[in-house]
Amino acid sequence: MDIREAYQELGVDPSVSDAQLKAMWRRLVAAWHPDRNAAAGASQRMQHINKAYQHIRQLRGGHSDSTEDDRYTGTQAENHTASAEPEPDCHRRTHNSKVRLSLEDAILGCTRTLSGRIVYTCEACVGNGKRVFAQACLTCNGSGAVRKATLFGWLWNEESCMDCGGDGRHRESCGACGGSGELTVTYRRRVRFPAGVRDGHVLSVPASPHGEPQIDLELEVKIKPHSLFTLDGDGLLRCEMPVNGYAWMSGRWVEVPTPNGMQQMRLNRNALTYRLSHQGFPTSLRGPRGDYFVKVIPVFASHDDPEQEALLEQLIAISTKAAQADQSLPLGQWQQRLKSWNSKQKEPV
Ligand SMILES: [Zn+2]
Ligand SMILES: [Zn+2]
Repeated sequence: MDIREAYQELGVDPSVSDAQLKAMWRRLVAAWHPDRNAAAGASQRMQHINKAYQHIRQLRGGHSDSTEDDRYTGTQAENHTASAEPEPDCHRRTHNSKVRLSLEDAILGCTRTLSGRIVYTCEACVGNGKRVFAQACLTCNGSGAVRKATLFGWLWNEESCMDCGGDGRHRESCGACGGSGELTVTYRRRVRFPAGVRDGHVLSVPASPHGEPQIDLELEVKIKPHSLFTLDGDGLLRCEMPVNGYAWMSGRWVEVPTPNGMQQMRLNRNALTYRLSHQGFPTSLRGPRGDYFVKVIPVFASHDDPEQEALLEQLIAISTKAAQADQSLPLGQWQQRLKSWNSKQKEPV
């Protein structure tokens, strides 16, 4: 058996990795093992498979003395599956995907049902749809050519064999993929995103031990921009909110948005930034909520509104009068001092 035959026997391309090679060999052994396969040629096929595998491994170096592990024949087969070395699971796959969450979902945690469809190249046939064996093609007996009768059977024409493409090797449609060269799997999973996930977090969701298909999901979280809230670099949740300047001056209650819904907040004319304790973004994954900061932007009337101007005039007049009357207020005290100083200036020297 030369090296080319060895690869053909295993139905793999010489470019396969050691891991893929081993996985393929194991799959073939599982299929052709005489204990499991009652076909007449199974035992012989098994020997070919092992010979091919050992041959390739010897040539790839470092494995010239085939170990107990590699001699996978007879009763050792069952021992092998129970050996300590981890069995490469050919059917288990990792799928990377992005999941977009709202900021509220990231703050409060959420559960999502994710589904998808994955198409990948069939490993068994390396995407060819056909498996190539060392045995001779049945159609052309290994010659690679077939004779075809032409007009009235007078003449014979040699043509390249369609079944083997002319190389004389036996081919079978790949059973793993039904000859298409690719495999499609769909998945549907309910996934819990814990409170406090950040943009760029990758959530590993391993395949459920008994569920099919065996797909490990690697989910990268993307947090959608929010129309009201922003999350700053320190993980603090913020909101900038315009408020009626007069309502702010007079300490009125206003409604503010929070991740849990609307809430009442009392304005204070001495403050522009308000801290709402434990209403912000979680301080860690699944951790307690941090604080939420609301910055108010007081908005006053424009100067060209005559109605508001008139009311403001009135307001100033009333408040000035009240201040003058009450000497305990800073404005009243100031005007008293101003008056006294001004009258002294006018006195003759
Ligand atoms: Zn052929
Ligand atoms: Zn296939």
